[in-house]
Amino acid sequence: MLSNSLVELDRRHLIHPVASYRGHEERGVTVLQSAKGVFVTDAQGRELIDGFAGLWCVNAGYGQPSVVAAATEQMQRLAYATGYFDLGSEPSIRLAAELADLTPGDLSRVYFTLGGSDAVDSAVRFIRYYFNALGKPEKKQVITLEQGYHGSSTTGSGLTALPVFHKGFDVPLPWQHRIPSPFPYRSPEGEDHRAVTAASVAALRDKVAELGADTVAAFFCEPVQGSGGVIVPPDGWLRAMRETCRELGILFVADEVITGFGRTGTMFACEHEGVVPDLMTMAKGLTSGYVPMGAVVMSEPVYQAIADGAGPDAPVGHGFTYSGHPVSAAVGLAVLKLYTEGGLVENGRRMGERLMAGLGALAGHPLVGEARGRGMLAALELVSHKDEKRKFDPALKLGERIFACAYENGLIVRAFPDGVIGFAPPLTCTPDEIDLIVERTRKTLDQVL
Ligand code: PLP
Repeated sequence: MLSNSLVELDRRHLIHPVASYRGHEERGVTVLQSAKGVFVTDAQGRELIDGFAGLWCVNAGYGQPSVVAAATEQMQRLAYATGYFDLGSEPSIRLAAELADLTPGDLSRVYFTLGGSDAVDSAVRFIRYYFNALGKPEKKQVITLEQGYHGSSTTGSGLTALPVFHKGFDVPLPWQHRIPSPFPYRSPEGEDHRAVTAASVAALRDKVAELGADTVAAFFCEPVQGSGGVIVPPDGWLRAMRETCRELGILFVADEVITGFGRTGTMFACEHEGVVPDLMTMAKGLTSGYVPMGAVVMSEPVYQAIADGAGPDAPVGHGFTYSGHPVSAAVGLAVLKLYTEGGLVENGRRMGERLMAGLGALAGHPLVGEARGRGMLAALELVSHKDEKRKFDPALKLGERIFACAYENGLIVRAFPDGVIGFAPPLTCTPDEIDLIVERTRKTLDQVL
């Protein structure tokens, strides 16, 4: 009964993110009721294993007592403190210091946001301030990757390259540009990894030359592209792009909103290649989805240029009411402890190997064109013809079918409309839980068509 009335209320009042409004009105909502560990229970009492950690965010799993206690204690002690007026709170200061410690190289200055989209927005604003402060106000253009996702704010949706975020919204903006993704399975260079990387470097150089080096501010990329279909670049790609940005005099921004906090087997994905970006954006795993929070972390030189540019006592006009919210920061500190002292990054690394082995074994399935991933971030790409790598006809609505079929089998995955299945399980998974995800995926593949 409760569930029926909720479905009706939802239909009438709640606008869902990236949903077909009419389709959703017709289908109605499935209400999730509770969760523990890696299992979610819906309002019908069905228990599902969460192979996607909510929306690639619940890295520490559900119902962690230390996280709940940290939030409760902080709410009781000091529910809110602004960072304006030279005020602050202990958790936000400590979390900033821990992030400065955990992020690579000279990334040392942290601005807190509410999530990933405003972390990207903030990065763009800081970059503009930086170049204006350096006396290079013409450096405004930003280059991103096709299939990239950088949020759905007014700025970020245009840096995002997925057409659904553009249609009807009048983006991208004139200063937002793109180059092709490093996608070995589908790139013209084929599976020759060196050639894929060389093509990306050449594309970046060409784009900067076309726009004029003096006008380009930055290159943003995800170290592994998530929402574009879990696209894993070749080894060496990230380092090559970072070096190229340095040579071209443009800032390199790593958007680690998905890849951060153990998702790919290291604390940050940049670490796989010893890359130190000029700025890093993060969210999701920062609080493991328990409460909203994101951050942009900038290098010491970027911070110093902004601070010098503002002068001895003039404000840098960028601030949110909830920047460094003490409850979110307390949760962040408790979650970081689980990643480090609790061994979750290490467990995620080991479970990622098991997940990749399991999905790799499904690559022989007649529907699977490729199994790919890094750590606990993985995908199966389904094709209608393996040799030709042909996609299924969109009229089949394969994504919807996969999601529904997996759900029936007790599994939540991300089913992209074009037939890519995304996996991002909590890093807390046991070997048996990973095997269950793989087994339920196999069953879904057998039944979906
Ligand atoms: N950047 C990347 C790489 C993301 O994957 C996302 C969200 O999925 C965002 C930015 C936006 O984050 P949010 O949804 O928290 O605004």
